[in-house]
Amino acid sequence: MPAWTPSSWKSKSIAQDVEYPDPGHLSKVLSKIETLPPLVTPSEIERLRHQLGQVQRGEAFLLHAGDCAESFDACTHENISAKIGLILSFSLILIWGARLPVVRIGRIAGQYAKPRSSPKEKLADGREVLSFRGDNVNGLDPNDRTPDPGRLLSAYFHSATTLNHVRALLGSGFASLHHPRDWSLNHVRSPSLRTHFEAIIDSLSDALDFSRTIGVEGSTGAASFAQGGGRGTVGEVDFYTSHEGLMLEYEQALTRAFPIAVPVAPATATFKANGTSNNQNADAIKENGGDAKSFYNTSAHFLWIGDRTRQLTGAHVEYFRGIRNPIGVKVGPSMGAEELVTLLDVVNPDKEAGRVTLITRYGAGKIDEHLAKHIRAVQVSGHGVIWICDPMHGNTQTSASGLKTRHFGTIISELTASLRIHAACGSRLGGVSLEFTGELNDEGFSVTECVGGSMELGEEELPMRYQSFCDPRLNFEQSLDVAFLISNYFKK
Ligand code: PEP
Ligand code: MN
Repeated sequence: MPAWTPSSWKSKSIAQDVEYPDPGHLSKVLSKIETLPPLVTPSEIERLRHQLGQVQRGEAFLLHAGDCAESFDACTHENISAKIGLILSFSLILIWGARLPVVRIGRIAGQYAKPRSSPKEKLADGREVLSFRGDNVNGLDPNDRTPDPGRLLSAYFHSATTLNHVRALLGSGFASLHHPRDWSLNHVRSPSLRTHFEAIIDSLSDALDFSRTIGVEGSTGAASFAQGGGRGTVGEVDFYTSHEGLMLEYEQALTRAFPIAVPVAPATATFKANGTSNNQNADAIKENGGDAKSFYNTSAHFLWIGDRTRQLTGAHVEYFRGIRNPIGVKVGPSMGAEELVTLLDVVNPDKEAGRVTLITRYGAGKIDEHLAKHIRAVQVSGHGVIWICDPMHGNTQTSASGLKTRHFGTIISELTASLRIHAACGSRLGGVSLEFTGELNDEGFSVTECVGGSMELGEEELPMRYQSFCDPRLNFEQSLDVAFLISNYFKK
């Protein structure tokens, strides 16, 4: 295979390419981004690789979740803390019920670019304009659709601000298990959901009290266990960022050569106990003579290739094959079984654990036709992967009022089919990828974008608080419904 460089993708065909009217302006912006500091560090990326290795071995569960797309305007304290609060609540339900550590990756701090099914959009007034491609490319306002390179710089700074706030929240006790009610339970309407969640919190308080009494709170006590992947303190948890690696110029500008890093301080008890956690790195470091470098994408810990940009000979696969980060690949109904194996050969030739997460998104009506076939092909190939189910993207439909929606029942149907098919194939579902939000309006009510769930949201209620400008997201209650379902499944 020809040599990889951070720019070798440029010689390939670029799906979903953006044409900038002023290439000089783009070059200037990219040169600036190249000088800016990394958003995440190689050690953090290595820690995630290690933890994804644990997911691959069935020792932990992966939660990948957040907005379909972030917007610059939604970069507020309220939105960020609501998102983190929901991710923490969701993972607490899983950890408590299923007794499985959870690796948390947010679609956050950089999830701005959107692939589009058509480059142009026809407006109600008959005008044809360029499609909205995400806040890092052009504006949602139909009069602001010309791609502006300055938005890439803005994306960098909004990502940095978001990440700074996430780090600040988690570093100052927001995740403390001593007060999970602060994560925004107050508005949960469904009485049964409230009761279930409160029961967990009450049991947890008891366990924490007990641990404190016998003096084992912290790295070995209930707090550490319940955090799942936490650092052994009651207030700190591991949390990782991700986005679709769509805008390759931007990704290249944040791709930096570093010596292969040793993961940041031991994250969990198992990390220390199995004693093998750094072997892969130690080998890689030895092989490289100790001083060779690897390319890390420092814009996020985890990046994924979308279903529209995963062509074997295309630019995105070329870029992704050379970065050291753990990566995701969306797998939809149009993916051939052989094609999938070839793709794995390209992006993970050394079959390294924790490197590839396959994010399947067929749709409830199509999963039976495709998932087992894909699992078998990967099993025969000898590739180890993490399989996670995205029950959102194959199940989008248009409601009577014209709003894009997803039905809770259909989402659950794809998720339960995925659990069933993995079990039948001797495989294991290692996680979920969800579009959800803990966002509330001024009166403290959740968004109304997906139909159903324990709150029984009706189609006629969708326009009440529909806030997504992209795909419809599960709200707080609907997300906890999903968490209880998974938690109960793994409890058995
Ligand atoms: C997404 O995750 O928002 C997305 C566009 O997914 P897919 O590439 O699977 O369609
Ligand atoms: Mn989406």
